[in-house]
Amino acid sequence: MVFSAAELATILSTLPDPAFVLTRSGRCAGIFGGRDARHPHEGGIVEGRSLGDVLTQRKTAWFLAQVEIALTTRMLQVVEYQLADTDMLAPKGEDAAPPVWFEGRIQALDFRVDGEEAVLWVATNISERHELEQRLLTQSRVDPLTGLWNRRKFDDVANQELERARRYAEPVSLLILDIDHFKAINDTHGHQTGDAVLIEIAAILRCGTRASDCVARWGGEEFAILMPETDGVEAARAADNIRAAVEVNLFACGMPVTVSVGISAFRAGADDLDDLIRRADDALYRAKAAGRNRIDLAA
Ligand code: GH3
Ligand code: MG
Ligand code: MG
Repeated sequence: MVFSAAELATILSTLPDPAFVLTRSGRCAGIFGGRDARHPHEGGIVEGRSLGDVLTQRKTAWFLAQVEIALTTRMLQVVEYQLADTDMLAPKGEDAAPPVWFEGRIQALDFRVDGEEAVLWVATNISERHELEQRLLTQSRVDPLTGLWNRRKFDDVANQELERARRYAEPVSLLILDIDHFKAINDTHGHQTGDAVLIEIAAILRCGTRASDCVARWGGEEFAILMPETDGVEAARAADNIRAAVEVNLFACGMPVTVSVGISAFRAGADDLDDLIRRADDALYRAKAAGRNRIDLAA
């Protein structure tokens, strides 16, 4: 089957995703397709103009780098990128459409366009997929009740931090915190009140820690806090501040709540994450046995 030039032009213009012919210098020599109206293709890139006429210097540089890779490797490049109002030279401000995520598939063309090498850049709007991916990623790392990190995320961060501590001989400490007699709170006031206490404790932990600390719900009524660049003495001080903050906090349930905390400082060369956790757990056990509402720093 041989199509006429007019038929070919119709076929190309019917393609759902827009395809841009971009030259090495960033000139847009042609746009085909982009018919799928369900997925608007913000971008404002116009035939005959250069990327740098429409996009910020930074975004233009990124586009040109991708074009360069496609031209050099002659292989299909697949990239994901966001285009926001702030990427435009003439931002619309409050009238702007929300940022759009794209998947770009970039392939070198085997002929020159206006004397320059060029690529075909097909842009697919993947905003919905991207949002779903982000949501799943968050769900896989965050404890839904308290909004703190969950244990999986904690393990990832902790392993990274221990690796760093080993390499740079920096201190790292771990706190494991357990609510005292939490079962009694549940039994007296109900599970919902227990949940509210967990949320309030989480807020106290956020306030009592640095942004660089990893605060996680460890499970049930236990929390773990990893403190990079913090030795045992400093961590014990932070733990006692948290313990005191819980003790004086007026909980919505009206009952006093206290916590016990076990602390271990990482010993590079002697510890892995399991050792660090075990030593903090043993310290927590001692704090409980000694009467609760106290901290214990592992030797
Ligand atoms: P201790 O001072 O020795 O730590 O005593 P405890 O009562 O806190 O410890 P125990 O392990 O006996 O009880 C923990 C309780 O935590 C039992 C469980 O029902 C409750 N719990 C665990 N997860 C949740 C939760 O998500 N919500 C609520 N409300 N309660 C929970
Ligand atoms: Mg417990
Ligand atoms: Mg407990």
